[in-house]
Amino acid sequence: MKTKLTYQLLDSTMKEYHRITQSCPGTHQWIIRAKKQKEGKGREDRLWHSPEGGLWLTFDIYCQDFSPSFPLFIAYCLHSLLVELYSLENLKIKWPNDIMWQDKKLGGILCEHNEREQKYVIGLGLNTNIRENTFPKTLNAAVLLSLIGFPTSNKYLLELIISHINKNIHLLSNPNIYIDYINLWLYGKNQFAQAYIGNKVIIGKNIGIAENGTILLMDKEGNIQEINSGSLHFLPET
Ligand code: ATP
Repeated sequence: MKTKLTYQLLDSTMKEYHRITQSCPGTHQWIIRAKKQKEGKGREDRLWHSPEGGLWLTFDIYCQDFSPSFPLFIAYCLHSLLVELYSLENLKIKWPNDIMWQDKKLGGILCEHNEREQKYVIGLGLNTNIRENTFPKTLNAAVLLSLIGFPTSNKYLLELIISHINKNIHLLSNPNIYIDYINLWLYGKNQFAQAYIGNKVIIGKNIGIAENGTILLMDKEGNIQEINSGSLHFLPET
């Protein structure tokens, strides 16, 4: 069974998803969409700006095995679909969870794994039909409307995204296929980056993603560090 709910306004689709599934437990598939969110969720509770016009979504995918590269699988699905639909060149995937246009973020992905219920809960935000000046000036956001020159149907795109993920779900048992793809379209490849892991900072050249979904940073001495959590901040080229 699958239920799709669309709200005019929510605090966050993630919060609504959890409220609903707590009161209606069971292996039901939920797709929660809001036309506007007041407190959209990024990672570590960062705010995801969600004005009217964008695609703001939480849905679940049942799968028995835990896959450490699952967020990258979703990024692969979203990236490949957007390229196929809109022939967008230069769309990149920033490890671990963002879709980038040049140095601006077009979309973000948030994945939670629920081991007991053998499911992933996926939050997805895509700046579709929004004018750039709607966002705060300090936000490096790209919008699809400016990139393609026409509005897109969020309702239709939602269906396409979920069916594209379901169609490709078998790739989770063969991650090298989507990891190879991501390495081709990786944001900041061969650039120096800082990785923040808690209070620790690691600096190195971004040499790509390993099959387990970690990103590899090589320091000036040639030592390679595997980063499996945190955020990357790219350093200006000297
Ligand atoms: P970073 O933004 O430093 O790469 P991150 O990718 O881990 O970190 P997320 O938690 O995925 O960040 O997303 C939240 C961040 O994304 C916010 O702190 C803000 O900088 C940016 N952001 C929030 N809303 C939007 C939006 N609609 N479009 C583009 N960027 C946004």
